Amino acid sequence: MSVDPFTAPLVGVGADMGFVGNPFDRADEVRRDAARLAVLRRARDSRWLLLVDLKPVMSTEGGVLDLLWLPPDDLPEITDWVFLGFRGDAPHFAASVAPGGFVPGRPLDARGAAIQLGDSRSGIIAQARSLLSWHATHGHCAVCGAPTEAIKGGYCRRCTAAGCGAEHFPRTDPVVIMLVVDGERCLLGRQPAFPAGFYSALAGFVEPGESLEEAVRREVAEEAGVRVGRVRYVASQPWPFPSSLMIGCFGEALSTDITVDAEELEEARWYSRAEVLSALRGEGPFTAPPPIAIAHHLLKAWAELG
Ligand SMILES: [Zn+2]
Repeated sequence: MSVDPFTAPLVGVGADMGFVGNPFDRADEVRRDAARLAVLRRARDSRWLLLVDLKPVMSTEGGVLDLLWLPPDDLPEITDWVFLGFRGDAPHFAASVAPGGFVPGRPLDARGAAIQLGDSRSGIIAQARSLLSWHATHGHCAVCGAPTEAIKGGYCRRCTAAGCGAEHFPRTDPVVIMLVVDGERCLLGRQPAFPAGFYSALAGFVEPGESLEEAVRREVAEEAGVRVGRVRYVASQPWPFPSSLMIGCFGEALSTDITVDAEELEEARWYSRAEVLSALRGEGPFTAPPPIAIAHHLLKAWAELG
């Protein structure tokens, strides 16, 4: 008899997945102090991470890949910038390089960079990429259409129109991602765009006016026609494409017949615990999500309970 995944202790699930573990003290009180921020921006020990088309600029010095941190005197022309926080006493910032501007290192797509770095530096990429992506697409007020300006270290944009002045805040879009289990097997699906043989946990955006539990039950019913009872929160992960928060859950299957919504999924099917353990070892019968993704850690946490 296997352990009940809805009551069993779960420790440290996903502690080593991508985009978590950001080391900065985000220092909210500094964001509200424009004069101090202006000093910190020019401070000799301040460090800047650049993004080009939302790709972090990397250092490859000595053949070692790392985030490239520049002192303020070495910055090329930039557009949007944000205050990331402090590491020790050193203020850290991120900025977008102006179009056509000089790029002092190697831009790498954020997902690839996170995989290659393989540690909490990917959490810095998540913070920088989500914020700068939001700035790039929120130059105008959603209330009156006038231009907005960044304030509070890049954590707010304020409308510049006299008589409006509306404040707008960065988005975080909740997505439920759930491993639905039925005793010794779990429900996985594949989208048409997935590589051949790749299966993952079902996922979908939380809708307005919906709890996480309700979102899990609705998404699984819509995508696979399976009814879900108990829902357990397991772990969460920032996913900066552009601003999702993946909320990982287990869901308990109350029915087992599958009816796939062809708009969302190509196929959904049940896999046994033994098959999941084999896939996580890279030995088939399907390709499991890689360790950068929270789906990998949901599968692992459940499979290892057996
Ligand atoms: Zn406005």
